[in-house]
Amino acid sequence: MSSEMADSRNAVLYIVVPCYNECEVFPQTAKALTELMEKMCSEGKISEKSRILFVDDGSRDNTWELISGEYDVNPRICGLKLAGNVGHQNALYAGLMAAKDKCDITISIDADLQDDIDVIPHMVDKYYGGCDIVYGVRSGRKKDSFFKRTTAQGFYRFMKLMGVKTVYNHADFRLMSARAVRQLSNYEERNMFLRGIVPLIGYKTDSVYYERKERTAGESKYPLKKMLSFAFDGITSFSIKPITFISAIGIIIIIASLAAAIYSLISYFCGNTVPGWTSLILSIWFLGGVQLLSVGLIGQYIGKIYVETKHRPRYNTEIFLCDENR
Ligand code: UDP
Ligand code: MG
Repeated sequence: MSSEMADSRNAVLYIVVPCYNECEVFPQTAKALTELMEKMCSEGKISEKSRILFVDDGSRDNTWELISGEYDVNPRICGLKLAGNVGHQNALYAGLMAAKDKCDITISIDADLQDDIDVIPHMVDKYYGGCDIVYGVRSGRKKDSFFKRTTAQGFYRFMKLMGVKTVYNHADFRLMSARAVRQLSNYEERNMFLRGIVPLIGYKTDSVYYERKERTAGESKYPLKKMLSFAFDGITSFSIKPITFISAIGIIIIIASLAAAIYSLISYFCGNTVPGWTSLILSIWFLGGVQLLSVGLIGQYIGKIYVETKHRPRYNTEIFLCDENR
């Protein structure tokens, strides 16, 4: 559906909003997104079939009651209730999968509306301009606390160092065309780290910039503990560099053991050593290095198994021009 619809400027948009214990912000969020969607519909930017899909990620408060109540009175709203709490990334993925065959474009956004919904029309414009993926990028983090800002930025830098391709200062506020979401469904891994996978999909991509706001109500569902485990998951689901580091340290220690050998032999021949010291020092250094190198080597094989078990697609096709009858 996507490419033909793209030209008619009447694409069906699904805004996917994962919610976990968000009863405090839900009414505001539903209102703001509905108003925005009505406006875009009346301007003819998107189809009347467009919807806002709230995904309830096993909330323990009455978030689902609010979503289903809103569904009864507001034709723009859709709701998906997950059977339990599976975390932001999985909840978002569930929403995208539910939306992908009903729409031409998806936009994912957090329920707290810290991301500026006013850039959504620009994202849609970029879609009409031929982009399949449009990232919402924070131009600054002035409203975040000093702690959140430094840890988050350190995270992006560290990910880059570890060889994971992510978009700097981009969270999960992004537009994806239906076909990009379909390609995403080919990435079969269980450890979903969307910010790392989406850049692997390919296609024409672009970014829109906005200032991130404070949470309007409720509190962050990402305390430090969750943030650390999120970062750790991100790295270990994408990169086998840590294993390579082990091998590298092994090699460095073996080289250092040569220096230790020279030093201990000189001391031995100069006669200022206790009996047994030279052989002990030599074995400790050398064996230590050999052990690390061996662990690293085994790790490399485990790394390969790990990459294979992900069953990631080898490529994603964009266009295939071929006319057999020409
Ligand atoms: N969220 C979720 N499941 C969870 C935790 C969070 O669906 O287990 C949702 C949450 O409702 C929000 C989004 O993920 O829409 C981002 O969470 P939050 O705003 O708390 O994170 P922060 O902006 O502080 O990083
Ligand atoms: Mg937030």
